[in-house]
Amino acid sequence: MFSLVVAMTAGMLLTMSCNSCQSGKSSMAVVEPYQPQSPVFNADSTYRYLEEQVAFGPRVPGTAAHEACGNYLSAKLASFGAEVTEQRTEVTHYDGRRLPIRNIIGSFAPEQEKRILLFAHWDSRPFADEESDPERRQQPISGADDGASGVGVLLEIARQLQQKPLDVGVDIIFFDLEDWGQPSFGQQQVTGDWWCMGSRYWAEQPHVEHYRAEYGILLDMVGSAGATFLKEGYSLQYAPAIVERVWSTARKLGYGSYFPQQQGGYITDDHLPVNELERAPSINIINLKRDSRTGFGPHWHTLKDDMRNIDRNTLKAVGQTVLELLYTEN
Ligand SMILES: [Zn+2]
Repeated sequence: MFSLVVAMTAGMLLTMSCNSCQSGKSSMAVVEPYQPQSPVFNADSTYRYLEEQVAFGPRVPGTAAHEACGNYLSAKLASFGAEVTEQRTEVTHYDGRRLPIRNIIGSFAPEQEKRILLFAHWDSRPFADEESDPERRQQPISGADDGASGVGVLLEIARQLQQKPLDVGVDIIFFDLEDWGQPSFGQQQVTGDWWCMGSRYWAEQPHVEHYRAEYGILLDMVGSAGATFLKEGYSLQYAPAIVERVWSTARKLGYGSYFPQQQGGYITDDHLPVNELERAPSINIINLKRDSRTGFGPHWHTLKDDMRNIDRNTLKAVGQTVLELLYTEN
């Protein structure tokens, strides 16, 4: 009923404006109001999933807080009806230290051959190396935006998938050990891939042999107020069609201001190993800034990355857009 009224109003407006046209050309396109196919994404429950992760304390691999949060995420996915698989291993880091990896995978409709991959990193950075005060740079960050936001949105999507199952298979992966790249205050930079170690491990040894998804979407820093998801470089390189689908879907849903038609830089993130090892052509939805020193928001890799930055409107824009993509899948 509501949509019918809107359509009629749009038609009347069109008639009115054409009456005042100078030329008789019928160049004006009739824009039908977009009818979303997806269930309503709940930003309040998403916000709670962020709070619950942050409440464990910084999720630094090897700590009790990290282990406890991992148990929470695993139990949450299982409670939403996903088939949960965990990958645990250890890797040697740039300083020779051995670090644990715990990737947490929730699969919906695991029997389906056609699959969509959604992912985010759940670890938080062990140092706030973008803090101006050197004393504070050694402290771990809360990672409300950098880590918890992407995971929170995916938990809400998992909850929706349980309530309204899809025919297509969906894998939600929470990658570990993304954010322990060498700090900027380190004396000597050691050559190697020290970021995205959890996703690289999975891309090399996926939980299902010969795993391949139709496409993948990474969510990273998707929670702060005024976020702008510029079209990230590797996303355009590896999966331009998916970038186009996501940005046009966001625009149709009324979230165009969050998804501007602008290109951002190339970001080393979890979608890179997933693309390089051809597990899925994948994009990164990530808050990028053209006018900042770092290219990211001002709270990036600082102690200010806490719940005060988180805005339900941003979570909603991202979550509803991704959900719409899933529910318009054929
Ligand atoms: Zn980070």
